[in-house]
Amino acid sequence: MHLFQTQHIKLYNTLSGQKEAFKPINEGHVGMYVCGPTVYSNVHLGNVRTFMSFDMVFRYLKHLGYKVRFVRNITDAGHLENDADAGEDRIAKKARLEEIEPMEVVQRYTVDFHNILNKFNFLPPSIEPTATGHIIEQIEIIKTILDKGLAYEVNGSVYFDVLKYNETKQYGILSKRNVEDLIHNTRELDGQSDKKNPQDFALWKKAEPQHIMRWPSPWSDGFPGWHLECTAMSTKYLGDHFDIHGGGMDLKFPHHECEIAQGEACNDASPVNYWMHANMLIMNGKKMAKSTGNFILPNEIFSGDNPHITKAYAPSVARFFMLQAHYRSILDFTNNGLLASEKGFYRLMDAINIMDELKSSESSSITILDWKQSCYDAMNDDFNSPILIANLFEGVKFINQIKEGNASLTHDDLEIFKATMNAFVFDILGLVNVTKVETSTDKLSGAVELLIQIRQQARANKDFALSDKIRDELAEVGIQLQDGKEGTTFSTN
Ligand code: AMP
Ligand code: ZN
Repeated sequence: MHLFQTQHIKLYNTLSGQKEAFKPINEGHVGMYVCGPTVYSNVHLGNVRTFMSFDMVFRYLKHLGYKVRFVRNITDAGHLENDADAGEDRIAKKARLEEIEPMEVVQRYTVDFHNILNKFNFLPPSIEPTATGHIIEQIEIIKTILDKGLAYEVNGSVYFDVLKYNETKQYGILSKRNVEDLIHNTRELDGQSDKKNPQDFALWKKAEPQHIMRWPSPWSDGFPGWHLECTAMSTKYLGDHFDIHGGGMDLKFPHHECEIAQGEACNDASPVNYWMHANMLIMNGKKMAKSTGNFILPNEIFSGDNPHITKAYAPSVARFFMLQAHYRSILDFTNNGLLASEKGFYRLMDAINIMDELKSSESSSITILDWKQSCYDAMNDDFNSPILIANLFEGVKFINQIKEGNASLTHDDLEIFKATMNAFVFDILGLVNVTKVETSTDKLSGAVELLIQIRQQARANKDFALSDKIRDELAEVGIQLQDGKEGTTFSTN
């Protein structure tokens, strides 16, 4: 007996716009593909949020007893600067600017990606394929689409013929756009492009002489279009038709729309049953993004070294902060939000840390099985982690009541309670049990605040010798006091 036989997930499918009962193609098995990072720079916290949403989904599916094959790729070629078919390859550009090999760029940022995900306690995916490792598969798919008459070659490049495809299929089915509107809203081609229509997208691009990332193909020395790699890697490892495809909301169009078109073109069937899209992390009202400079790096959260935050936060605190929002809701990154999550996180850990000391009783005053089911209900309802967390805080309340003798659980109920708390907090949410360690920045702030108070007292007592001594000696060790209307603040250099 597996848990998935009694716990039934409903998940929001972007394709239908509804929550649907989750039924895998092969009972007991789940194939899930998630678009991975383009490894041309460090991942920012927004990227981490999307990957974390799917780490939680992966963890929950595994917990229910599904045998999950989770494929998350590394995009190491083909992603051009403007997300469409123009501009320089992001990795090649970085390589040019830094005067290193593109594969050095790829190596550096793949390692960074893994390091960051490890710090956040992610589970590794089952397979992590790279675009450059699947050029042959991509070429084969292009041949198939050409054979079906749904792509055309011009000057060594191959484009997907969206209008032709749309005669029998529906381009825009995922993002709810129709081709007529797309035509209406797209700028005229500037004459630089070989495309028949601006909606068409590249399957293969002929490389300009200066383009360093290039492979031979029947059409030219060139490189694959960005959307193609995900079709190649997902179907290679999960089959032409698989269960779940995920990614950030911003990938819905054109990336995932094009993946559907490519899959349909090859097999006359939609490649994916459930499309899941995670919502954006925003900061100062705008999407967190590398291109606009509106971003924060995970390591800055761990060190506290960023003007948007007042202190360092443990990775599990940041993880908890993100999981306190539902994956389909926008999440606003703020220092106050992190501070509140930090309090909640340590309250949860403090309670868990005393669970083993709880004594069982003759009878139970809490119906623990109902509470346990409400934890499952939350996750079964489209992975609703904030509701789950509210239930876990109900569990914290039970722990404190039992400790104080205001509630009781039998031995068996207590065992169920402990196992459930541990499963949801550590296995499913992926939090790590860290007890609050004061970071060095916390300690420094505490010590300087104390000196500021002593100095204020000294000034109130007209003991200016002492107050100046405090200011000057702090300055000597690199801590500057600034007196203002609101009181005294300090900065370090
Ligand atoms: P990229 O490396 O640009 O291909 O992005 C990797 C993943 O991060 C994609 O699934 C994006 O949708 C996602 N992503 C990018 N920016 C954000 C953001 N601000 N919040 C959440 N996810 C994001
Ligand atoms: Zn993708």
